[in-house]
Amino acid sequence: MRLHVLGSTGYHPNERRHTSCYMLPELGLVLDAGTGFFRVREHLVTPTLEIMLSHAHLDHVIGLTYLFDVLHKKNVERVTVRGAPRKLEVIAEQMLSPHLFPATLPIQWAPLIGPVTLADGSRLTYFPLEHPGGSLGFRIDWPDRAFAFVTDTTAKPGAAYAAHLEGVDVLIHECNFPDGWEALAEQTGHSCTTPVAELAKAVGVKRLILSHVFPISNEFDPLNLSVARRIFPNTDIAIDGLELDV
Ligand SMILES: [Zn+2]
Ligand SMILES: [Zn+2]
Repeated sequence: MRLHVLGSTGYHPNERRHTSCYMLPELGLVLDAGTGFFRVREHLVTPTLEIMLSHAHLDHVIGLTYLFDVLHKKNVERVTVRGAPRKLEVIAEQMLSPHLFPATLPIQWAPLIGPVTLADGSRLTYFPLEHPGGSLGFRIDWPDRAFAFVTDTTAKPGAAYAAHLEGVDVLIHECNFPDGWEALAEQTGHSCTTPVAELAKAVGVKRLILSHVFPISNEFDPLNLSVARRIFPNTDIAIDGLELDV
């Protein structure tokens, strides 16, 4: 199953990265709708589009407003947006208020109230993450493997969500800051490089992809990948356009 990284940073886009958006085209599934969401158009081949939102911070949802262009001449029958019930209310009432956006989007809102069965029969589950306002991590299980997406939280030893990562093969985990930015990471609910790698090692995933990458830098690797690889060798850094097998 291919996963396309369409937006690998957070907060704001830079010359190299758009904000949070990941797509599994075979499933018609998108995780987060940051500024990278405009790229969904070039990968959209299914009659339905499922969008899962980790939370409602703008760097994860602003791309919903691009939906008219994403769907243009695409024969998509249904667009479903799922997320925590309160987050969907806030997006619909505030971000999509006529004061901020002129037209009603063709979206079916589906508050998450339990596991979701995806187009190929795989199962998506979710779990809470500590972050200002709260965030959700996602996990997809197939009979022979599992994938997890953890964005917008502060990785630390013994984090409650680690229990949800057992048996995961590929983990995309946020890493907004390199080491040395711990105070701001704590204040803003984000992670630094070392604790993310330590968490991946502790839970025993097979592969770690660092994402929501430090947006103030235009470098390919502003997180110091070598620091992460000393702790957890099978680590890579996300970049827009990257494709993974999950
Ligand atoms: Zn974010
Ligand atoms: Zn956030």
